Amino acid sequence: MNGLTADCGLNIAHATVDRHATGVGGSRVALRWPEANGDRIEVTYADLREESSRFAGVLAGLGVKSGAVVAVYTGRIPALYFAALGTWRSRCVFCPLFSDFGPEPVIHRLAISRAAVLVTTSLLYRMNVDGLRSRLPHLQHVLLTDTDAAHGKDTAPLPRLMRAAPAFFPIGFTDPEERATLHFTSGTTGMPKGAVHVHDGVRYLAQTGKEVFDFRGSDIFWCTADPGWVTGTSYGIVAPLAHGITSIVDSEAFDVRRWYRMLAQERVSVWYTSPSAIRRLMRAGISPRDTYDLGALRLICSVGEPLAAEAVRWTERSLGLPAVDTWWQTETGGIMISSAVAPQIRPGSMGWPLREIEAAVVRRAEDGTVIGSAVPGEVGELVLKPNWSSLFREYLRAPETYARCFAGGWYLSGDLVRRDSEGYFWFVGRADDIIKTAGHLVSPFEVESVLMGHPAVSEAAVIGTPDPLIGERVKAFVTLKPGWNADQPLRRSLLGHARSRLGPAISPREIAFVDDLPRNRAGKIVRRLLKDPEATGETDSADRSA
Ligand code: AMP
Repeated sequence: MNGLTADCGLNIAHATVDRHATGVGGSRVALRWPEANGDRIEVTYADLREESSRFAGVLAGLGVKSGAVVAVYTGRIPALYFAALGTWRSRCVFCPLFSDFGPEPVIHRLAISRAAVLVTTSLLYRMNVDGLRSRLPHLQHVLLTDTDAAHGKDTAPLPRLMRAAPAFFPIGFTDPEERATLHFTSGTTGMPKGAVHVHDGVRYLAQTGKEVFDFRGSDIFWCTADPGWVTGTSYGIVAPLAHGITSIVDSEAFDVRRWYRMLAQERVSVWYTSPSAIRRLMRAGISPRDTYDLGALRLICSVGEPLAAEAVRWTERSLGLPAVDTWWQTETGGIMISSAVAPQIRPGSMGWPLREIEAAVVRRAEDGTVIGSAVPGEVGELVLKPNWSSLFREYLRAPETYARCFAGGWYLSGDLVRRDSEGYFWFVGRADDIIKTAGHLVSPFEVESVLMGHPAVSEAAVIGTPDPLIGERVKAFVTLKPGWNADQPLRRSLLGHARSRLGPAISPREIAFVDDLPRNRAGKIVRRLLKDPEATGETDSADRSA
């Protein structure tokens, strides 16, 4: 796509906002919140330039230098989008944090990223950050989005600072390889890792906006993902804005009727959602087209988990279009494989690699080396030639973990797939223990660490167990210290302990008490074996309240 670069080099804020903000494009709606607090909020491209400028001006006024990490921990409110674009405009690094995270994941991510600035709401700050601020020596400024009160001891009111900032803030020269975004993603053996993306990624995201979604000027696009996860940033902010189209943002949680109403009333033409959401719509048992006019929809795409053949057929029957699968991950930054670019939709298959992407299926030895290509139909690891611009450039402060993602000239995805003789890719599973719940990756280690902080717990191992609605549910197996009883009050205490520290997105739904955890010869816990109920020896498996 032409015109992404300018005198300021290649900067996401220019490519997505400034180049549309002058002339007639400026009055086009960029983001629309249909029902936020009962009001309709509309933000044009010209407004986005102004608001992102004001945010950049606030950072400059506080003395925040380019390259600093600006973390944003809010729901999907306008301030999140202004802060993201203002951060890129300032040549700082945007680090979104999911608002359903509790204090532990948030503090941990703020600490690893060494964020200098945190944008959040008064409530989230008070509940999850304030009391733990001593663990964040690098955090210099907390900007609250919902108060105009004078500066507190440790916080400042963002609306007031924004009003005082200039309405235009020029973008400084930006090298395409400058860091732009930091997304945390899960690991199996350690805490989540910060995947770094650069401004150059916008080129690939704009291209996939064309190749997969075929964005047209009149499109109304709705990406249901939260920017706390990579989809909500790459395709909830960057790609549609790069095409100058209008996006819908829903700041509320999933609700069947409200979602159908949104699709109909907003005349959504391109919808990007997840298998979890589609399964919930399927289960609601409503025939949407009897009540809602979905005639504007021309494309439905899905991401984040396996899209079952039945879900594709259901969307075709009930919504009028077969859902188009897309496969990618935080590290790839953008869509790699999709049925949108395959000759036809084969329900259950992810489709073909995009034009620029070379994908293969390989066998790997125990030590990780690539030992050859899988034959058609054989299961192997999905690998990609690292040649597209939105590929992550590093795991922050974890060069060895980053290096382990590459071998033999390939990026190793960690996903098991098979490719059939006609080139279609079929998802098989993860090659590791990472859990996928409601479309979110969860690091077992992060959950285990919190459980081990409970006085009763001796050891913990966390796995995903199959769930018809959310794909996998987080389940913890724990062994107890002497003197504790494996009973219902303790189970409730553990669930409460985990939920208050981890937040609802990643805390376990089930706790099982066991006498011991399965181990290999070296004594290391083998989580995989816990997936077999026969092998676990749960002491009271009948009672699994969530
Ligand atoms: P994340 O980095 O949080 O975006 O999660 C990436 C992981 O989600 C991938 O490695 C896959 O395991 C899973 N995933 C993403 N898209 C799909 C898909 N279309 N089908 C199956 N699994 C998917």
